[in-house]
Amino acid sequence: GLILGIESSCDETAAAVVRSGSAVLSNVVASQIATHALYGGVVPELASREHLTNIVPVVRTAVAEAGITLDDLDAVAVTEGPGLAGALLVGITYAKALAYGLGKPLIAVNHLEGHIHAVLMEAKETLSLTPGAPVLALVVSGGHTHLYLAEERGGLWSYRNVGRTIDDAAGEAYDKSAKLLGLGYPGGPLMDFLADHGDPNAVEFKLGGIKPKLHRDGASRGGEFDFSFSGIKTAVLRYTELHHMRERAAARHNALMQVEGNRREAALALCDRETLDLIASFQKAVVGYLVKQTMRAAEEFGAGSIVVSGGVAANRALRERMSAEAAARHLQIAFPSLALATDNAAMIAAAAWPKFAAGLFASDELNATPQLRLG
Ligand code: ATP
Ligand code: MG
Ligand code: FE
Repeated sequence: GLILGIESSCDETAAAVVRSGSAVLSNVVASQIATHALYGGVVPELASREHLTNIVPVVRTAVAEAGITLDDLDAVAVTEGPGLAGALLVGITYAKALAYGLGKPLIAVNHLEGHIHAVLMEAKETLSLTPGAPVLALVVSGGHTHLYLAEERGGLWSYRNVGRTIDDAAGEAYDKSAKLLGLGYPGGPLMDFLADHGDPNAVEFKLGGIKPKLHRDGASRGGEFDFSFSGIKTAVLRYTELHHMRERAAARHNALMQVEGNRREAALALCDRETLDLIASFQKAVVGYLVKQTMRAAEEFGAGSIVVSGGVAANRALRERMSAEAAARHLQIAFPSLALATDNAAMIAAAAWPKFAAGLFASDELNATPQLRLG
């Protein structure tokens, strides 16, 4: 079974060909980071326009690199949400037309399920899944910080959302803090690198402590396994003001804009001790919080294994701490390879595979669902 996956939910136009849900024949990603970096964040109108420009060559390249022709495909899978409406629409419209033209089925995939399958597709041999011991999935990216219990029954996966951020996502906290320090967008990878050069115990950040609030409809917000990251962003802002770091950050930002070669080494040279200590402390706090909430949930729900995915899953400290804590509890753990951690279409094709086998196809009326939920 050959599935072409198409992903356009945010700022990456991606296409990939995957055989039988796990063999990646091609995985093409056209990133728009350079465009959005000029504005310090993703600009939706620009994202849609770039997807329109990129979609045809990206799909063509993915098919060519896989060494197949479009007629060899068995199905076309596409992200239906969550994401930016205009961006999603480009991928969906294209996928619909392609599937219709080829006379092949169309499969709709939830982007978050895709992130989970980015790990599952690679870990098929290493994770031994036992019935009754669900997989606990932490999806942690620029837009999401969600905990899901995932279980396979009769080949199909089902999900239960047991925790989520009530404000900012973890990647967003990285990006916003990096911006405050003049490190540009997206700041996560650079913060990860710089954190190694500072003292993680220099500044104490407090994370967590969400009080469950009852809403008018009776639903509680702020559950036991939810996250909150807006506080640490504010704490970083306060710290930079209190220690008169804003001017230095502005100068660093201007200097970094001129750098064409190694941005990491350049950023390191532009950071003073105080800034490096702040970054190391920030990373320690965020990683410790993610690990703590995940381990508490794993225990509560009797998980047998943990999978971590999304852009922040690329973070080295998160991988180390999470692996050590999982090992101490005899829990299996898996992360995606770096290529599959951030947005890509191989994960969309992989998540579509069980649906293909079960004949769960999308109708001609498939539309973008920007607020689509999982579970
Ligand atoms: P979505 O939530 O819809 O998946 P997204 O496009 O923001 O949206 P990704 O592309 O999966 O998600 O991840 C990008 C995010 O991951 C950014 O916030 C980026 O800063 C963060 N990130 C990437 N590498 C690292 C790293 N090594 N350490 C910390 N954060 C990182
Ligand atoms: Mg992205
Ligand atoms: Fe994503």
